[in-house]
Order: sequence, then structure tokens, then C-alpha cells
Amino acid sequence: MVTANALNEESLRRLPKVALHDHLDGSLRVRTVVELAAEVGYAGLPTTNIEELTEWFHQDKPTNSLETYLQAFGHTIAVLQEPDALRRAIFESVEDLKNDGVVYGEVRFAPELLVRGAMDLVKVFDVAQAAFADASAEFGITVNMIVCALRNHDNSLLVAQEVVKRKGGNIVGFDLAGPERGWPASLHREALALLRDARVPYTLHAGEGDGVSSIEDAIACGASRIGHGVRIADDISVDGVMYTLGPRAEAVRATGILLEVCPTSNLNTQMYPDLSSHPVDILFRAGFAVSINTDNRLMSRTSITAEWSRLAETFGWGSNEFLATTVAGLRAAFCDEVERDRLLAEVVVPGFRG
Ligand SMILES: [Zn+2]
Repeated sequence: MVTANALNEESLRRLPKVALHDHLDGSLRVRTVVELAAEVGYAGLPTTNIEELTEWFHQDKPTNSLETYLQAFGHTIAVLQEPDALRRAIFESVEDLKNDGVVYGEVRFAPELLVRGAMDLVKVFDVAQAAFADASAEFGITVNMIVCALRNHDNSLLVAQEVVKRKGGNIVGFDLAGPERGWPASLHREALALLRDARVPYTLHAGEGDGVSSIEDAIACGASRIGHGVRIADDISVDGVMYTLGPRAEAVRATGILLEVCPTSNLNTQMYPDLSSHPVDILFRAGFAVSINTDNRLMSRTSITAEWSRLAETFGWGSNEFLATTVAGLRAAFCDEVERDRLLAEVVVPGFRG
């Protein structure tokens, strides 16, 4: 095992990683956004200068708000409405994950947002499934798909039905994305029941835009994992390095449910002023199942390597923590058990032994 001090960015990049919370429309390359905008005749970008647009997309400024965040997605979604554009974005996303050291990934997006051009919902599913399969073969890593429906739209049942129809391929799970507050997972009970009956697992965004009750709601709705979930820390009192779990945090920890933690994204949405105030270290030490993720690589200008590097710097994390969070992620991955065991025994553990 290498010590934290020996972990520079390059050695971190080489370690095997699992990416479970990664939005396709939040992870495009800036140059690709500009080129696709020109191809499809989308004139809405704030600038077509790559450097300026890179800076614009980066949601780390005090002036950033939910509004600019949503505008940023408005641009990426606008350029993904054609089959070739969607295919290109998926290929580049898989290539970028591979270059980050990812050995297994699950990338998510909402098909219902991509039907303003030549594709209908079924076509979006067809194009994306083929592209993820081809890109996985080309880059030699498995990247599966999680299909999102939006909490504030009413398509979740339709989307869930399509997911169930395609069960067994590279669509491995489902998610509810979009605004949490006012749109609890329980509003989508029918879609979730259908998935549960068909044994399609789902992860639900919770405990990001809303508090502990949203996490409890997601668990009550049958979620297998929680997207973010960090606000469970609202029920943990901290005094220096000591912490005490309240009954609600205890109950969530007892379920063993995986929290897909995305530290930089949480700083960008102003949940915490800096990484040292972020609860990721406490949650990990307190025994929650934690995996480290990027959320939106474009808007947060990040990668898992970059997240690890910041965790090493801020909390002194080293290969023990990175291995533990990678294994926790893999155990909760939505791929089949055979693949999970093979990756663990043949790729992840040997990769950390170096
Ligand atoms: Zn997310």
C-alpha cells in the first residue's frame, strides 16, 4: 500500500476506479459543445471561444446559482438532440472515464430531454444503448446506463416501462433527477413499483437539495442507492474529530445503503463553503457506505482523480480510503454479480496492490 504522501495526481489516476454518479449531459467536452452547436445550428451559447466557454461552464463562482447551473444544462441538452451528437458524446464520455482510471462506470441521463430533434423516446434508448455498448468495447471498460426520469415532469411511468422492456442489456438502473424540494420520490410511486416488480434497481437523488426526510423518503420508496445523501449529516453532531449520530442518521447507516457522494459538485451548489466543511470524511469514518463521484465533470471541472486528490489534501485520505470507497461502490454497482466479483478480484484489488 502506498501512503498518502506518495500519492501524486498521476499515481492516483492509475488506480482503478468505479464511477456510479456521472451525468452525461454534465460531462461533455467544451470543444464538443462548440462543434456540435455549429453542426446543429444552435446559436444560444454565451460564447464559442473555447477558453471563455470553459470558464463560463465552470460553476465555481460566487455569482453562480441554480439558474446558471440550469442554463449550463440547457446548452448541453440543446446540442444532444441528434443521434450522431448523442453517440459522439457517449463515446467521448467513456474515453474520458477510461483516462481517469475508471474500470467500471454507470452514466446517467434523461432520455425525455433529448426528443426535440430527430429522435423520439424509443430512438434515444436505441442510440444510447448501441453507443454505450460500442464505446465500452472500443475502450475496454464496461460503462452501463442509468436512465433518469425527472421529478418535476410526469413521464416517469413511461420511462420506467421502457427500462423494464429493455431489462438485461446495458441499461442497469433508474434514477429520479431534477429538483428535490417539493417533488419527493413518493410522487413517482407507480413507476418505482413497476421497476421493483421487474427487479430493476434504482438510485434516487436525495439529501442534496432537500434534507434528511428526502433520504428517508427515498429509502422508503425502495432505493438501492442514494444520489448524494450527504445531508444525512444534518442528524450528526460534530465536535472536533468526535461525532455523534442522531437516531435518523443511525437508521440510515444501519440500512448499509450506498451514498454516491460528489464533493466538488456540493461545493459548486453552495451546500458547503469548502471541502473541509463537507461531511464526506465524517460519513466515511462513521461507517456509512460511501463512494466518491463527479456528478458533472464539465460544470465542476473535475474527475474522480481530482476528487481523490482534493480528499488526500484536505482529509489526508490515502489508498486505504480510496480502496474502501471503490469497493463500497462496486458492491452497490448495478451490474451482475459475476462481473462485480471479477472486477473486484481481478482488477480493483490487484490495481491497488500495484
Ligand atoms: Zn446528480
